[in-house]
Parts: sequence; structure tokens; C-alpha cells
Amino acid sequence: MARIELRGISHTYAGGAPALKPLDLVWEDGGAYALLGPSGCGKTTLLNIISGLLRPTKGEVLIDGKGVTHAPPEARNIAQVFQFPVVYDTMTVFDNLAFPLRNRRVKESEIRPRVEQIADLLEMTNELGRRARGLSADALQKISLGRGLVRKDVAAILFDEPLTVIDPHAKWLLRRKLKQIHQTTPVTLVYVTHDQVEALTLADKVVVMNEGSVVQQGSPEDLFERPAHTFVGHFIGSPGMNFLPCTLEGDDGAARVGNHRIPVDPAQCARARALGGSLVLGVRPEFLRRVEPETAGAVPTTVRQVEELGTHVIASATLRQVGAQEGGQNDAQQELKVKLPEGTIIAAGDTLWLELSPSRTTLYADGRAAFAS
Ligand code: ATP
Repeated sequence: MARIELRGISHTYAGGAPALKPLDLVWEDGGAYALLGPSGCGKTTLLNIISGLLRPTKGEVLIDGKGVTHAPPEARNIAQVFQFPVVYDTMTVFDNLAFPLRNRRVKESEIRPRVEQIADLLEMTNELGRRARGLSADALQKISLGRGLVRKDVAAILFDEPLTVIDPHAKWLLRRKLKQIHQTTPVTLVYVTHDQVEALTLADKVVVMNEGSVVQQGSPEDLFERPAHTFVGHFIGSPGMNFLPCTLEGDDGAARVGNHRIPVDPAQCARARALGGSLVLGVRPEFLRRVEPETAGAVPTTVRQVEELGTHVIASATLRQVGAQEGGQNDAQQELKVKLPEGTIIAAGDTLWLELSPSRTTLYADGRAAFAS
């Protein structure tokens, strides 16, 4: 197992803009971490710096407290699995899986059982004698995964979007296998992906990146329940969080959205006021409650579009101003996505009354959450 620490790491490729802005991260022994972010945010750059394929422009990499910033990959005891298969196509599947062990001069008597164990896990036992050439893209990527997993002595395994080329059904199975492997093997696992489902199902802790910086790190629940930044609220969730431009009203915990007065957490109001900047009120589609019109604080919306998604219904609705007529022209333009239970009967043009509960909304000032961190 390895504790991986990054201190003040930054990177700029020759002639380019900074790919990584100075960042500090600690990954504890045996944890399962995901690096999640949109394409180009610096995930692969960070992974290659940890494995030693890339030297950072600035900063230090420590593994178990030892500086390894200038150590070559082979001196780091880290396995890496890439987005595309790295397989010797003239070798058999067995020899491919055995390669990292033979490279480390593991005894042949130990190699066979270990390779068979990994092949069993990846459901490749019947292919062990086959040459890699001619196997499907899925099978080749499974071999690549197997090569990353086969060594028992690695301290950490870094996965760089390894399931991208795998078909959706096999992807689901492999994701489950990887989780199982991690639960039974004491190894630090870092998994790069731009797919939030992959990150949230595999990792105990997710590091969300954007434009070369770490925006938030936390458990999948933290990121869903308490996005520290509008970027996280928008990026995590399907659909992402709703954001309503607002101003603060009085000192008793209320926000004005259009001509609605919406109660919000007073502590957040105070903090938002201190942070300053432009304000939005964030609420997840899951946390908007459909209520009766006479419910205190209920706001009326006009349904614009309805998507039936099998397990639930997503309604897109616009907030209606106080005093506006149903279907009238003076609706506010703010759109809200609302997640409703399967079987909800609702259609475009209907009025939907919603409750924005203070315990379920977050104020953001210039993108930053106004809850105490
Ligand atoms: P993806 O999900 O598409 O793989 P990523 O989050 O892994 O993206 P990186 O591949 O680390 O992002 O790239 C970060 C930034 O650095 C991008 O702007 C990219 O264009 C740039 N970059 C990456 N590799 C190089 C390189 N070898 N030379 C110059 N610029 C590079």
C-alpha cells in the first residue's frame, strides 16, 4: 500500500497554458480515489506525474513520505492501466498477464496460480492459451487491466479511463469487478474518469477537477449533497443542480428570486453577504418537492417539457412571477429541472407548485458555496 502526497504540483507543457495549477493532494494507504473532471482538465497529466511518466514543472511527489519527483516509473512500484490496451499481440493471453511478474523475476511456480486467479476474475480462463492478436477490443482491454492487477507487490494502481473502449454491458461488470478487487486487495487505487457514475460507484473519495485545479474532494455523498462550487453542482448529478439568480432580502434569511421571497438558511445568508459577488440559489432536481398550491412558501412554475425516463420523470419548468397569469407572458426565464416519481402525470403547460426548502438549497456567491466548510 502507498500513501501518495502531492505538494505544490503544477505543470505547463512547452508552449502551452498551465495544464495543472499549483495543487496539494494526499491519497491515503489503501483508499479508492477517483479523479473526475471534463476533458482537458488535467487528469491524465496528474496521473502521469504520479507514475513518473511526466516530471512536473514545479512541486514534489512523495510516496510513503519519500520524495520520488525525479525517480523513474520503475522505481515507484506503481502499476498504470491506460485508456487503450497495452498488449503484446504476438504473445498469448497467459504470457501477457505473466509479463509484469516475469519482469520482476517472480518464480514461475508462483506465476501460474496468480495469472489463473486474475484470468478467473476477468472471466478469461478459456482464452489463456490464445494469442492476443485477433481478440476483440474488450478482451484486449481486459488483458490490460489484468496486467495492471497481476502484481501483488504494487503499492498503487493508477487507472486512466480504462473502460472507455469497453461496451456498456461489459463496462458495468468490470466496474463491479474492480470494486471487488479493491475490497480484497490492500492497494491504493486512483481512477481517472470523466464519467460521474464510474467515479461515484468505484471510489470512496472523489477529487473533482476543472481547468487544472482541484475544485472539491469528498465522498460521493458530499459531492451530491454539499457541492462546494457551482461547477460541482452542475457536473455531478443528472441533470445537474438548478441555479436561480437571486439577491438577499433583509437580515432574517430570505432570498429574492424574480418577485418571489424564498426562505433560506440565515447562516448561509450571512456568509453569502460576507463573500459578496453575484448570487445564485442552488437546488438539486431531486430536492424540489411538488406541493399543493396553498402550501406556505410554494412557488408556481409552468411546465415546458416532460421527459419520461422509466424510473422517474424529469420536468423542465419556468418559475412564474407572483401575480402572473397561468401561461402568461411575464414568467421569469429561470428554468428549473424537477425530478418526479415514475408514473407522475404531467404535461407541458401545466402548473407545478414547488417547495424550495431551506435545508435543501445552497447559496453560491461568485460560484462558491456559502455554507461553512
Ligand atoms: P481527457 O479526459 O481528454 O484525457 P484530461 O483531463 O486527462 O483530458 P490532460 O490530458 O491532462 O487532460 O490535458 C490537460 C491539458 O494539457 C489540455 O489542455 C491538453 O490539451 C494539454 N496537454 C496534454 N498533453 C499535452 C502535451 N503532450 N503537450 C501539450 N499539451 C498537452
